[in-house]
Amino acid sequence: MNHQASLIQRLQLPAFTASQIHVDVMRLDQLHPIVSGNKWFKLQKHLALASPGRPILTFGGAWSNHLVATAYAAKQAGFPAIGIIRGEQPSSPSATLTDAAAYGMQLEFVSREQYGQKENPTFLQQLTHRYPGAYIIPEGGGGIPGITGSQDILQLADTTAYTHICCAIGTGTTFLGLHRASTPQQTIIGVPVLKGFDTSSLSGPRTLFLPQYHFGGYGRHPQILLDFMNDFHRDTGIPTDIVYTGKLFYAIRESIRQHLFHAHSRLLIIHSGGLQGNRSLPPRKLDF
Ligand SMILES: *Cc1c(COP(=O)(O)O)cnc(C)c1O
Repeated sequence: MNHQASLIQRLQLPAFTASQIHVDVMRLDQLHPIVSGNKWFKLQKHLALASPGRPILTFGGAWSNHLVATAYAAKQAGFPAIGIIRGEQPSSPSATLTDAAAYGMQLEFVSREQYGQKENPTFLQQLTHRYPGAYIIPEGGGGIPGITGSQDILQLADTTAYTHICCAIGTGTTFLGLHRASTPQQTIIGVPVLKGFDTSSLSGPRTLFLPQYHFGGYGRHPQILLDFMNDFHRDTGIPTDIVYTGKLFYAIRESIRQHLFHAHSRLLIIHSGGLQGNRSLPPRKLDF
């Protein structure tokens, strides 16, 4: 993990300067080329609860950021790792699954139907029977350890002077961690990437959601999003991913254009990584 580089970078776009808004990005994507930033933080507190020598078991699809991050983090901490993968074993595995296997994760493919049981206590009991003493991390690395792990993100730098902290929402675990770690003066802004995501369990004082930037739903990445990601990379040098952070940066840019923030606001956008997932695209869709 690269903790040396300065993780905070100023974002300068014409739309921002005109509005007198200061925007910084926390580049968690730069921690590691494969292991997505927020997943790494969520995993640390899970791994702290696992029994030495016993396997870590988790779930994911063919391009899961969480799965490959778990494989890497488990290897680093000296745990065997098992990945329960959604869908039948493909004839040629995805780059993500290839990486996870290279980090030593044992992959077990299950039908979509069976995968749907991933939160069913009986199914989980069967898994712990098959892999004795396994510590099971829910898909996406959620739960209380995931929330407390995410709190550490705001300890990476002095973040107290920001008025708004912005992140993408998948499960909302990271959002909750950021909210807990924020100061009473800060507003936490979440951009759900799932269509129709119910934010009621996440909302509280100092929360704000921008639900209209899912681009059709989870895993959807229409050309207009890809065009934005290419433009954004050209203008700022920052690569984004098609599932989460492309939508996040688009949403914040639009919101600034629409004067959602008062002058002199100071925004911190959490770039939560996920770049490895862009490998699911056909070649030449992205310029980076
Ligand atoms: C998983 C993920 C998220 C969403 O995190 P949650 O805690 O599930 O809301 C955001 N960005 C990236 C890059 C991710 O991989």
